[in-house]
Amino acid sequence: MAAIAFIGLGNMGEPMAANLVKAGHRVVGFDLVSESRDAAKTNGVTIAGSARAAVTNADVIITMLPIGRHVVSVWTDVMPVVTRGALMIDCSTIDVESARRVHMLAARASLHSVDAPVSGGVAGARDATLTFMAGGEVESFEAAKPFLEAMGKKIIHCGRDGAGQAAKICNNMILGVSMIAVGEAFVLAEKLGLSRQALFDVASTASGQCWSLTSYCPVPGLVPTSPANNDYKPGFASAMMLKDLTLAQEAAKSTGAVTPLGQHAQDIYKAFDAAGNGGVDFSGIIRHIRALAEN
Ligand code: NAD
Repeated sequence: MAAIAFIGLGNMGEPMAANLVKAGHRVVGFDLVSESRDAAKTNGVTIAGSARAAVTNADVIITMLPIGRHVVSVWTDVMPVVTRGALMIDCSTIDVESARRVHMLAARASLHSVDAPVSGGVAGARDATLTFMAGGEVESFEAAKPFLEAMGKKIIHCGRDGAGQAAKICNNMILGVSMIAVGEAFVLAEKLGLSRQALFDVASTASGQCWSLTSYCPVPGLVPTSPANNDYKPGFASAMMLKDLTLAQEAAKSTGAVTPLGQHAQDIYKAFDAAGNGGVDFSGIIRHIRALAEN
């Protein structure tokens, strides 16, 4: 069993660290927030006084932090005390450029590193059913795989450094665009006098079929697990979707890709967020679309 340092014990990191403990690893964690530290402690994580203290003597170092700036700062801070031969894994969703930067920091210290952002949300983190999209050398990926398997059920090697982050933002750009499209279709159906059930029965088995419709339908009463049945409580908050769409647009700009629908989706979620809906599930965007029709 390995000695694991886990930095960032928030909504995702705390249950992920708890699953590593359940798998028999010795986990030493650190977070800036005392509530997060306390929650992790009750689930068997030993709490260190700093990120540096947590990584000292660790075989594996995992970070689960909000954005790229935090990951670069923590990796830079701990690097001088990381044990030779340790494996560095970042599971946060961050920009590809920062991901490549921290891979470089690890390479300079002759450490293996993997970017491994996740999909599956807080429920997936709790139930150890996350999907990991990983980037890095094959050898680093193989070394990381058993640890990722303790926290998830699908582990995909997407390519070299930063490829996990690239897969994550491309996937979530599809998700943001498709959720808006499904919302628009239901609002149009309402205007046409077509029942929700009829649109669902047709589109869910026809060419309009997609995850946003069949697994996460934005109108209530059709898919039991949809946040629409729970007043759009997240789930996956709109602020998170806006963050991922913004990362996709930054990546498009820096690479010269042209993504007009991704851009438009970002604008729509930006307006939704600015109206105070950042904490609403991202499928609640249908309310914004309906309100546009009423103005
Ligand atoms: P969160 O804000 O709940 O947790 C992040 C934690 O990092 C916080 O507890 C914060 O105190 C801690 N932190 C920040 N800077 C730190 C530092 N320097 N040292 C130690 N701790 C520090 O966020 P989350 O929901 O757990 O998300 C984490 C990452 O996972 C994000 O990149 C997010 O985009 C991604 N993600 C989240 C979800 C989700 O549904 N919540 C789903 C997929 C991916």
